[in-house]
Amino acid sequence: MISYPYNLHSHTVLGDGNNTPEEMAAAAYEKGFKTYGFSEHSVLPWYEEWCMTPYGQSEYIKTVNKLKKEYEGRMEIALGLEMDLNSDYSKNQLEPFDYIISSVHSVRGSDGKIHYADSSEEKMLKGIEVFGSAEKYAEAYFENVIAAAKADYADILGHFDLLLKYNEREKFIDENDGWYRDLSLSAADEVAKAGIIVEVNTGAISRKKRSVPYPTAEIIKYMNEKGVKFILSSDTHATDTLDAFFDESLELLRGCGVKTLCAYGNGKFFEVKI
Ligand SMILES: [Zn+2]
Ligand SMILES: [Zn+2]
Repeated sequence: MISYPYNLHSHTVLGDGNNTPEEMAAAAYEKGFKTYGFSEHSVLPWYEEWCMTPYGQSEYIKTVNKLKKEYEGRMEIALGLEMDLNSDYSKNQLEPFDYIISSVHSVRGSDGKIHYADSSEEKMLKGIEVFGSAEKYAEAYFENVIAAAKADYADILGHFDLLLKYNEREKFIDENDGWYRDLSLSAADEVAKAGIIVEVNTGAISRKKRSVPYPTAEIIKYMNEKGVKFILSSDTHATDTLDAFFDESLELLRGCGVKTLCAYGNGKFFEVKI
């Protein structure tokens, strides 16, 4: 039995995932999910392999809507979008989607270039170099996170502290340093004020980059005290990690004092006890 039968963050071959939407839905149904949401990466103003193209997005919408009908009455399928802060959608373009995960994957440096936080350790280091220090890089990153949390389209804030993706192996940032704690906690304050649902994301654990979900336990505790609502998601890219590390994360959340989680069903968000 799956402990928390919901997941709204997932990718397929239509983005940077490994399986087709049909394969993901079939595996989710087999696992006993009540709601399974697709959240392919939004179209960017420039080409990126991991993002959808405008044509790819129309195929994505068609495919997921077809799956919705196919699983009707057995498992709820939801059509989501992981909106990168660099994307630019009109209200009309957002219409087809049931929910939006608002995510930051990069920061723009003084060189005018985009520096990704999650694509590789080298690119992350390059970003820090361009910004001159990890502190300056983190400042720019969290400014973007605050903007993502305040975006009017946003339902869920994706991976709050993605900039720590490679930090367990090699310490680019000392998370206990005063400057990092001040910066991340003040960003957490702004996120709490925005009233957005915050995602607890296990993706980096299944990709063996981290041993704990985003955000860190300290941030979860802090946000929980500020009344933030959380949702658990696997950010899965394959059929074998649909609910990866859900049990461990539920334990961690309980340890942080979290008593309920958001879930999605019948087209809306609601809370479940954990
Ligand atoms: Zn993401
Ligand atoms: Zn994702």
